[in-house]
Amino acid sequence: MTQEPYPVARLRPNRGKAYLGGHPWVYKDELVLDRRTSNLVPGTPVVLEDAKRVPVGVVALNPASGIVARELDRDSAARIGGDWIADCLSRALALRDRLYPRPFYRLTHGEGDGLPGLVIDRAAGVLVIQPNTAWAEAVLPDIIAALDTLLSPETIVVNRDSRGRIQEGLEGGREVLRGSVEGPIKIETGGMPLYADIEEGQKTGVYFDQFPNHAYIAALASDRRVLDVFSHTGGFALACLSGGASHVTAIDSSARALDLATKAAQEAGVDDRLDSRQIDAFDGMRALASDGEAFDIVICDPPAFAPRKDTLEAGIRAYERTSRLALPLVAPQGILVLCSCSHAVTPDALMGSAQRMFHKARRTARMIHSGRAGPDHPVHPALAESGYLKVLVFAVD
Ligand code: SAH
Repeated sequence: MTQEPYPVARLRPNRGKAYLGGHPWVYKDELVLDRRTSNLVPGTPVVLEDAKRVPVGVVALNPASGIVARELDRDSAARIGGDWIADCLSRALALRDRLYPRPFYRLTHGEGDGLPGLVIDRAAGVLVIQPNTAWAEAVLPDIIAALDTLLSPETIVVNRDSRGRIQEGLEGGREVLRGSVEGPIKIETGGMPLYADIEEGQKTGVYFDQFPNHAYIAALASDRRVLDVFSHTGGFALACLSGGASHVTAIDSSARALDLATKAAQEAGVDDRLDSRQIDAFDGMRALASDGEAFDIVICDPPAFAPRKDTLEAGIRAYERTSRLALPLVAPQGILVLCSCSHAVTPDALMGSAQRMFHKARRTARMIHSGRAGPDHPVHPALAESGYLKVLVFAVD
C-alpha cells in the first residue's frame, strides 16, 4: 500500500539552529509560513526541511502556536500513526515498570518521553490524560487505543485545563471519557496514602513530581515539628507524619485539598499530629510568626509564581516574599525547603533570591540538598523546560 507523503515545511535560511542541533522545537520566526503551510490543520505531521531542502525529520505543525513545530521523529520517512504512538507509549511504560514497584506515576512527560505535550498520570487503573498540544489532541483516539492494548484502563479522564493549551489555541475543560470518577482517587505508593481529586483538583490532582522530595524531607522529620506551606493534599505533611514528625501544620488556601490531607491522616491514625489551616499562605505565615511559633522544618512549595518569561521579575519577588516570611518560622538549627515549579526561574535565580533573604535576615544558611522531579518526569537534554522543578534544602543556623 502506498502512503500519501506528508506535506513539507521549510526552515528559513540560517534559522532553526536549535532544532538542527537536537532541540525538539521550532519557533514561528524560524519557519517559512506560506499560505499552504499556514492553512494546515494544527497538529498535522509534516516533513521538515532545512533551507537547502534536505529533510531533517517529521514534526507536528501548529501554525497557531509560537512553537510552530515540534519534533516527532528525526527519521523523515517515519509514519506517525497508531503503531508509532503505541511504540512510544510502550517505551514510556517499560521505563516506569523498571523504576516503580507500584503503578502510581506520571506515565508520559511530553517531550521528555518523545510525545510532544502529552502528559498522562496513572493511578493503577485510572488514567488522567492532558493533551497539551494540538498534535496530542488530534491523535487522542490513537493514544487511547494504544493505552487500551497496553493497560486496559478502567477510567480515563481528559484534563484540558493546562496553561500550555492556550498558547496552542486549544479549548479548556474536563471530561470523563471512560468509567466514572466517584470521589478522590487513592495514591498508594507504599508509605502513607495520598488522595487525588482528579475532577476538581489542580493539575491532575496529585504532584507526582514531588514524591522523591517528600521522601527526602520525611527522612529528616522524626520527632520534629514541621510546617508545610502550600500543602495541597498534604504531600510533604503526610510523608513527614509517616516519618515520625511530632507535629505538622499544613497551610493551603484550598479547603478541598486540605480535607483530603486530613482524610489520609485519619485513615493512617495520625490526624492527632496534623493541624491543617485553610488560609492564604502569606497571612498564615505572618500569623504564626506573631504567635511566636517556630518549626524544625519549614517547607514552601508554592504554585508557579513565574509561569512565563515575562512574569519572571514578579515571580522572583513572590519567591522572595515567601522565603522572607518563612525564615522567621525556622527554629535555630532548622531546615528550610524552598521549591519552585516555574521553569523560567533557574536554580541560580532561586538560590539568589533565597540568599538575599538569608542575608537581610542575618541568618546563616547552607544548602544541604537540591532535588528535582522524580524519574517519571524524564528531562529532554535540550529542553530545560522539561526539568522545571527545583527544590533547595537549607540548614539554617
Ligand atoms: N506541596 C504539594 C503541592 C503544592 S501545589 C505537594 O507536594 O503535593 C501548590 C498549592 O498552593 C495548591 O494546593 C494551592 O491551593 C496552593 N496555593 C496557591 N496560592 C496560595 C496562597 N496564596 N495561599 C495558600 N495556598 C495557596
